[in-house]
Order: sequence, then structure tokens, then C-alpha cells
Amino acid sequence: MSETVWTLRQLLTSGVAETIVQHTYQEEQHRPHMSCPTCARRLTARGPVHRCVETMVGTIELERPYFYCLGCREGTYPLDEVLDVSAGRIQRDVQQAAVDLATEVPYETASTLLSRLSGMTVSSERLHTFTTQVAEGLSVLDVAPPRDEIDQRVARVAAGRFRRPVLVLGIDGAYVPSRPDSARGRRPGQARYRARRARWRHAWYEAKGFRFYLLDGDRIVHLLSWHQVQSDDDLGKALQKIKDAGLIPEDTVRLCVIGDGADWIWKHVQALFPDACQVLDYYHCAEYLHKVAYAHYGHTLQALEWVEATLTRLYQGHVGAVLGGLRRMQPTSDEAAKAIDNCWVHLHEHRRRTHYGTLRRGGYPLGSGGIESSNKFICHVRLKRSGAWWYEASSNQMLALRCAKYNGTFDQVFARYRQEKMGA
Ligand SMILES: [Zn+2]
Repeated sequence: MSETVWTLRQLLTSGVAETIVQHTYQEEQHRPHMSCPTCARRLTARGPVHRCVETMVGTIELERPYFYCLGCREGTYPLDEVLDVSAGRIQRDVQQAAVDLATEVPYETASTLLSRLSGMTVSSERLHTFTTQVAEGLSVLDVAPPRDEIDQRVARVAAGRFRRPVLVLGIDGAYVPSRPDSARGRRPGQARYRARRARWRHAWYEAKGFRFYLLDGDRIVHLLSWHQVQSDDDLGKALQKIKDAGLIPEDTVRLCVIGDGADWIWKHVQALFPDACQVLDYYHCAEYLHKVAYAHYGHTLQALEWVEATLTRLYQGHVGAVLGGLRRMQPTSDEAAKAIDNCWVHLHEHRRRTHYGTLRRGGYPLGSGGIESSNKFICHVRLKRSGAWWYEASSNQMLALRCAKYNGTFDQVFARYRQEKMGA
């Protein structure tokens, strides 16, 4: 029985929906006259005209009058407006469900799943089109949660605490499999080669991103992520927008910025959040120290002992002692000299961001794990698929939608899309 009802579900629910429309909007369906919305002239109903729309509850048939103003040369279907029927056969609820799936799994799989779960057929090409339409022109503020939502999350973490909660801003890059725009379309004489191999060279573009999150003991409370294949100036502008929109409650939190040694990160932080506590990712430092140890001592017990001892010093905040130690080392090879020099430069340049002892006591994070996991769950999970190489525009649209999902603003993004469609 369950199987029979499941097979018939679309017919059953669409039947119910049609009945509701008929009962609730009887007047609209048989309306004989209306006045023109533009010139107020009295118009007489034509039709009825038949229309078929696809919704999550099935295919719904509508019969409704049409009004046309000869003066304004404009026609309208009042029933469509009260029902909020959108242009095109596939309605927004189906589009939203489809895009919801497509932002999690490849288009082909999303199409199959949608059809299996809902009974709606949407081809993977349509799915791609919907995704593009919804994501078109999304900016960081479109996917950011409103300030009061952020305040609520801060208040929840702050409750019963003596100190203001730590709000971390993590900044990092992630590599996204990309293809050049020149791979688009079909050029003469190319078709027979295309079957054998791609005529373009793939590349890995850097998606630069940031994530704001709160520390609640060992737990991370997510606030806002924004990742795009973009220049570091674009990232700076996005951060500036967040700041200008007043989304960062700088007076109720202790703001802390964490990143690796990349210069572009600190340039923007210094300009936008000069009072924030700055932290150089401890684990990146550890990598530098490991390189020094293996280059200098080889894969020996001594190397391990040296790393352990040096890391302990660093962990306790004695960066001066570590720098001095590096200076005193007599390199055993050119490779060792280079590793020691690199490590020294890195630590020296960022020494004021390495007060790990004080940072730990203050409850600040030492590692950039929060932004690295954001890289993973926003960028890699969807974009790094075997055989998938993304155009820059498509990858940015997908990233914007995935950020919206994790920021809790997916519905907000759809509301914006709907508003735009209605305005158009
Ligand atoms: Zn008119």
C-alpha cells in the first residue's frame, strides 16, 4: 500500500492543491472584470486560459481569466499574482529544492536524487541554470547573517562567562580545480579533438576565504564564512563591507585574527582591525621547525629531540630564545642553512604574533584549524570532485551558495532572488 501511495503521491497532492485553489480563489477564477493596474480602464475577462505549473506537490493545472488593456498593451493574469506563480513551468519551491541538492552533490547526482525523492524531473542542465540564476551577483553581504542573529550567538556563548568571548577571524587560501574561460564554447575544427582530450590546460586557482567564529570551550560556533576565487584586494573589500555594515560586534567580543605567514592576510588585518589580537598559526611554525630539524640532523632521534624542545619553547612564548637558537646553529649543509634561514625569517617577521603563552592564558586559539575546516566543508567537499574542473564564475557562484548554507542564510538568498525576479 505504501508503495502504491508513494507512486501516486504527486497525483494525490496535486489534486488536493488544485481543489484548494478552486475553493479559495473561486472569485479570482471567475472574475468578469478588473481595472487596468496602469490606466485604471475597465477590462473584460478573456479566456479562460489553461496553464500547467510544476511544484513540489506535483503538476497543478490552472484555468484562469486573462485581462488585456488595449491602451497600455499589457496583459495580466490576476490569479497567477495572488498565487505567486513564477514565470516558467518549474516553480520556485522546486528550484529551491533542486539548488539545495546541487550545492551538496554533483549536478547529475542531484538530478537523480531529486527525481527519486520528490518525483520531480529536473535535468542536470536545468539544475545548473537554476543555480547560476540564484547565485548571480551574490556578494558577501547577501550571504551574511544579520547583526541581531550574530548578537544572539555571541550572547549565548557569553552567558555565565567572566570574560568576553573570543571572536576569531581566520583567513586562508584553498586550491580549487579550475579551467580557463577559453575552454568555453566550441571553436571550428576542435570538435574531433575534444572527444580525445581536453584542449585546455587545467589549473588550480586559489580561493581566498575568511571565517568568523566564536570559541565556546572546545567548540566552535560558526558565524560567517566567505570564500571566493579572488584577488587579495577583493578579499580586503569583502572584509571592509562586513565591517562597514556593522556586523562585527567589536565591543562585546575579544577579536582575534589567525593566519599563516602569507603577507596579503596581515596587510588587510592591520588596515581593518588594528586592535585585534593577531596570532600566527602555531602549526605552520611547527612545519618550519620540522624542516630545519630534518635538514640539519637528518631523520634521527636528535632531530626529534630538537623539534620537541624548540616547540616547547615556542609554545611557552619564548620566541626570542628560539630565534637565538636558530642563529647559533652551525648548518651541516646548504639545505640546512636554507631551512634555518627560512624559519628564522618567518618567525622574526611575525614574532609579535607568536606570544603563545599569553595567548593560551587569554583563551585565544593557536591554530588556524577553524578556517582550514571551513576551506574543507565549503570549498573542497563540493568543488574537488574527480573530473570536475570549474570555470571561475561557476566556482564562485557555488562557493557563495555554500557559504549561504553554512551561514544560515540560504532562505535569505532565495528571498532576494524572488524579489529580483518580481522587480524584473
Ligand atoms: Zn491600461
